[in-house]
Amino acid sequence: MAYKFVDNYRERGARKKLVEHLKSRGITDERVLGAIGKVPRHFFFDETFWNQAYKDIAFPIGDGQTISQPYTVAYQSELLHIGKGDKVLEIGTGSGYQTCILMELGAEVFTIERQESIYKHTLKVLPGMGYSANFFFGDGSMGIAAHAPYHKIIVTAGAPFVPEILLKQLKIGGMLVIPVGDEHSQTMVTVIRVSETDYEKFELDTFRFVPLVGDQAW
Ligand code: SAM
Repeated sequence: MAYKFVDNYRERGARKKLVEHLKSRGITDERVLGAIGKVPRHFFFDETFWNQAYKDIAFPIGDGQTISQPYTVAYQSELLHIGKGDKVLEIGTGSGYQTCILMELGAEVFTIERQESIYKHTLKVLPGMGYSANFFFGDGSMGIAAHAPYHKIIVTAGAPFVPEILLKQLKIGGMLVIPVGDEHSQTMVTVIRVSETDYEKFELDTFRFVPLVGDQAW
């Protein structure tokens, strides 16, 4: 892919329209809307497809994977209530777009991807855009115990169940956001660790993600 980091009035205008669209779909968190308005989503696309970058759609990024739909990114980001300096584990790096949004919200991001080609690509591209996360290659369904505990964990692929091992890597007061269901449809689930042993679980709206594949997954 040829990446030319050009962000001119056309792309900035398209981003503004995307932000208005997300507001109309119910996203209200001004910090999240600000981050979506700031991160140039077209940088994650081949130049041939820049005209698709600010549509509210997921888009193929190769190896059968997708850059998530902006509404989904905004929805999960809003749920997380990221505070400045929050240590966040992202499972499913993909294009790195969600990673950049988390960083714009002030998070220190640990992100893991299981597909080597995608991992290597994003590892190279993000620093060129000025975003430096902590990248890992491997099965994120096991979390990353070496860097736990986390204030927040976000899973950006559809899981068959909530992996217990991820809950154990949350700080007390921390939150996991994960889509759970079958291969066709998943319910967005949040789990808050309220004490050493207790968790509160909430089930929200329905989405469709690519599958989370791994030891504690499909
Ligand atoms: N958030 C990403 C973005 O903004 O582009 C989109 C992620 S894409 C919908 C889901 C990603 O999760 C894919 O790149 C896929 O390879 C990855 N994935 C699936 N199972 C995984 C696992 N067990 N560990 C880490 N990554 C995984």
